[in-house]
Amino acid sequence: MSQIYLDNNATTRVDPEVFDAMRPLFMDQFGNPSSKHEFGAAAGVAVQKARQQLQALIGAAFEDEIAFTSGGTESDNAAILAGLEAMPRRTEIVTSMVEHPAVLALCAHVETTRDVKVHRIPVDRQGRLDVVAYKAALTPNVAVVSIMWANNETGTIFPLVELAELAKEVGALFHTDAVQAVGKLPMDLKSTAIDMVSLSGHKLHGPKGIGALYIKRGVHFGSLIKGGHQERNRRAGTENTPGIVGLGKAAELALKFIDEQSTRIKSLRDRLETGLLQSIPNAFVTGDLEQRLPNTSTIAFENIESDGMLLLLNREGIACSSGSACSCGSQELSHVLRAMNIPHTAAQGAIRFSLSRDNDEKDVDRVLEVMPGLVEMLRAPSPIFNGYGDGI
Ligand SMILES: *Cc1c(COP(=O)(O)O)cnc(C)c1O
Repeated sequence: MSQIYLDNNATTRVDPEVFDAMRPLFMDQFGNPSSKHEFGAAAGVAVQKARQQLQALIGAAFEDEIAFTSGGTESDNAAILAGLEAMPRRTEIVTSMVEHPAVLALCAHVETTRDVKVHRIPVDRQGRLDVVAYKAALTPNVAVVSIMWANNETGTIFPLVELAELAKEVGALFHTDAVQAVGKLPMDLKSTAIDMVSLSGHKLHGPKGIGALYIKRGVHFGSLIKGGHQERNRRAGTENTPGIVGLGKAAELALKFIDEQSTRIKSLRDRLETGLLQSIPNAFVTGDLEQRLPNTSTIAFENIESDGMLLLLNREGIACSSGSACSCGSQELSHVLRAMNIPHTAAQGAIRFSLSRDNDEKDVDRVLEVMPGLVEMLRAPSPIFNGYGDGI
């Protein structure tokens, strides 16, 4: 049975070209970029090329605006903490209720351990940010704003360029977790007021454990990781040179395929979504139908349990994820769908399909073939739990 992978917002397959680009960095180019010999120089050149590849993908004005990190989580943590440190007299953070745990947990931590107030801006039923509440939270006491570019669960895209401009009006630093947006949406950061941008390798067909933080020139940035002077004092520790080169190659490929996101991948997603909604009653798409990542579709199927559905799909060789299980493994509903006020009976049956350039029509057709029957099966009253069985 062929495997169908539709969980690309969780992680993506490393592109073979990325893998090939990384290999030399383990072997003959194994040097430490800080070393003053040929081995070091070769590694340094490779790292510089990767920085330029990323610069091109996100439209940074200067290559040295990019600092490599261990991934999206570190970038998010580093940006928010640096923002607080850069503005010692300001004691507030503005974020949203639907951020990734990398932002939410860090904000909760500083709220309990420091004298910091966190404003968590709500969203509406479509997952759109409450801009009125956002504006109201923006005061000269805000040190840093951290709002995601696109939501990992629903794909909803926030109006980042405008939100950043509003933050600038009160002199706050503006950070965005763009882990899901980079490589899927065209970007030109140099023309925006955005100060810091987090991204991650493994969400764009690069390796895991590598990411980057864009830091606009002029932003006062203190490193989260203390140690040597690597990355212009913005991230200590010997560079993960194979990872960096892999991320660079992944960025180059993402740029090459960026049009495919809004054409081929989007039409595959739409075909999947339309087909499922046509064949399965009592189901609806969550998130903003207009402003949405081209690869993402989270559908709430009423009166099923997403965990059961994931198991059945897995048996069919189809990998996707639930929009409802929180990552702590409990039965609790996702904080994103809760913030959107999706009724419990629908949110608990939410399934996220996230596509990538690795998918084709056969994948979509297979899901359309099996899914209606599986939903019907899960919705049928169980002969065991109908009160007459022995309850095993
Ligand atoms: C995956 C993800 C992260 C975390 O990135 P890692 O590289 O896995 O640490 C952060 N934010 C969003 C929106 C993500 O999807």
